[in-house]
Amino acid sequence: MLYDNHGRQLRYLRLAVTDRCNLRCFYCMPEEGLNFSSRSQILSYEEMTRLVTILADLGISKVRITGGEPFVRKDIVPFMDQLTQINGIEAVSITTNGTDLVRHLPALKQMGIKSVNLSLDCLDKERFHKITRRDEFEEVMTSYHALIESGIDTKINAVVMEEHNLEDILLMCALTQNDPVSVRFIEEMPFNGGSKGYVPIKWNMTRILEHIQEAYPNLVKLDDGVSSTSMNYQIPGAKGSIGIIPAYTRTICRSCDRIRLTPKGDLKTCLYQGEGFSFRDFMRDGATDEDIKNQFIKLFNNRAKDGFEAEAKAQKSGSLQSMATIGG
Ligand code: SAM
Ligand code: SF4
Repeated sequence: MLYDNHGRQLRYLRLAVTDRCNLRCFYCMPEEGLNFSSRSQILSYEEMTRLVTILADLGISKVRITGGEPFVRKDIVPFMDQLTQINGIEAVSITTNGTDLVRHLPALKQMGIKSVNLSLDCLDKERFHKITRRDEFEEVMTSYHALIESGIDTKINAVVMEEHNLEDILLMCALTQNDPVSVRFIEEMPFNGGSKGYVPIKWNMTRILEHIQEAYPNLVKLDDGVSSTSMNYQIPGAKGSIGIIPAYTRTICRSCDRIRLTPKGDLKTCLYQGEGFSFRDFMRDGATDEDIKNQFIKLFNNRAKDGFEAEAKAQKSGSLQSMATIGG
């Protein structure tokens, strides 16, 4: 089993399979995109399968595929199927912008994918265009309805942005009344790849919650589960639920069980960490499975206590990161 130096067991891998994306969400990357990695710079499917197999041996049982946009990488669906067959991996899930999901849904269902996180920040075509700089709102809404219809556990991820989508908060809460969906509002984090400066957020978890409670004074607090990143609530009688993720105020680090691997194979023991150890180079230099296992153990033995400590160290390396290279 893999534990860090603060006694937290690692159980959950977030695997970013590409830094490329067909949208340009302004909180994630600049309009002109990023200096995207070449094919040889990112991990091959064989390399990722090897790392996941080693991590499964260390007790990691859940893998979430993320990016960039996972569906822009060729053959991502057969790769996910392969991951579901690794001994010890109990759940494979995916986070997607939903622009190209519908045609893959039958295959995802067939391989037993139980949960999909759909990123959708608003319920209006024009606002969607302003946020993502692309005209794909209808495709994403079609994916949303298909997901609900499919019976796959569906979560919506909505980044709260003072200047763009405050009017959507209550509209999205209302979605939970009739649909079995978990709508999760995420505090905006400073990983926009230079798209804009970062002004510390005013709409933090407390403010978002107060806003929702003004409209729904009888909002019920739900049990959050041991390593949930969201504080969860429900409108009485609703089919779905509402979550708030304090991703910037970071009150969730105490129970963090996540490992992050970037598309280039860098390990992040924390979302707020700067440069990470390159498992790509380590593997390509001939590391054995045992070496790799020991390296994971060693790196987690020196993990920052929380996102503030990790960020303080990262600032020294001065990295300007995009969430598309971290995976969220
Ligand atoms: N492209 C996919 C998508 O958008 O769902 C997967 C990758 S995306 C980087 C993963 C998650 O990170 C999305 O839910 C997105 O909204 C969130 N995200 C991106 N940039 C963020 C930021 N600056 N602050 C908070 N969340 C962010
Ligand atoms: Fe693409 Fe996801 Fe980043 Fe938006 S948040 S630009 S969809 S990677």
